[in-house]
Amino acid sequence: MCILMPFYSYQDVLRLMKTIQESPCEVSEELRGWNWKSPPLLPTSSLKISASDLGFGCPTGRIAYLRYRLKQRESPNEALRFGSFLHHVISAATYKAKAILYTSIPKSGAEFYSRMMSELSHMRTNRLPEEYVQVLRNIWERAALTYSASLDYVIEQSRYLAPDSIVSRVVPWICEFPVDGRPIGLNRNIRIDALVPPSLLIEFKTRRPSRDIEVAMAGYALAFECQYMVPVNHVVILYIEFSKDKRSFKVYENILKVGDSLRLEFIEKRDLYFMRGEDGTDPGLPSHCDPSCPYLRVCRPDG
Ligand code: SF4
Repeated sequence: MCILMPFYSYQDVLRLMKTIQESPCEVSEELRGWNWKSPPLLPTSSLKISASDLGFGCPTGRIAYLRYRLKQRESPNEALRFGSFLHHVISAATYKAKAILYTSIPKSGAEFYSRMMSELSHMRTNRLPEEYVQVLRNIWERAALTYSASLDYVIEQSRYLAPDSIVSRVVPWICEFPVDGRPIGLNRNIRIDALVPPSLLIEFKTRRPSRDIEVAMAGYALAFECQYMVPVNHVVILYIEFSKDKRSFKVYENILKVGDSLRLEFIEKRDLYFMRGEDGTDPGLPSHCDPSCPYLRVCRPDG
């Protein structure tokens, strides 16, 4: 893992592509998403599992029993609410950066920076806790800094690019990219946090790194392969770690190989969730629950 900014420049994308090319990953043909009509990928149930549930460590699969059998509502804790807020901020900053560029290309990175920062005042903050407002400002400024430097670089390379080309070079990803996971037994509304075309999937996580997060990423990769018929051998997880007071943060980049063993772990977990979602027997609590699980208050109300 290495430490960097939460937004990618075009140079970051080239760096990533080079690293990925130097680290090949073999995948068996029957474990490609497009082979979902045959075992082992063929879903053994008509249930559609929430892809994000696979990212929580629930060894007994009670999460699926609660959600699909009992139809119990989840109760996200503060950590999950903060993660969701951060996703919203990154997505909004990405959108605003593109909107500024499409409206009229700034003459310099400095002009872009100033326009981007002035947009911050239009973000609704009146019902947000002060530390969330601080995070919003902090992340927004990182977007302004990354993309203003990128714009300077692009202008320096060529003054004759069409606006659409400039936007794709300055802001190289698409946030909240939709993928339909139904053929492999996942929900239809999967949202990949960011996609760098044609097929680099990126997820932002504020939780601690875990194998469960990686298993969920395998699900996203398989769903993408299934829908777009292109191989996804690697995905990127950006772990964004905030200090306790949320005034500072670090970003760690994990380039993850989506090889056979991870794909098989995904299938095993998905099939366990299928079974729990259909079975009328409560599988009980594991000895250890994922501290980020959205059902923690339901399963362990006393903490
Ligand atoms: S709180 Fe524990 S048992 Fe309940 S769903 Fe979450 S991880 Fe599973």
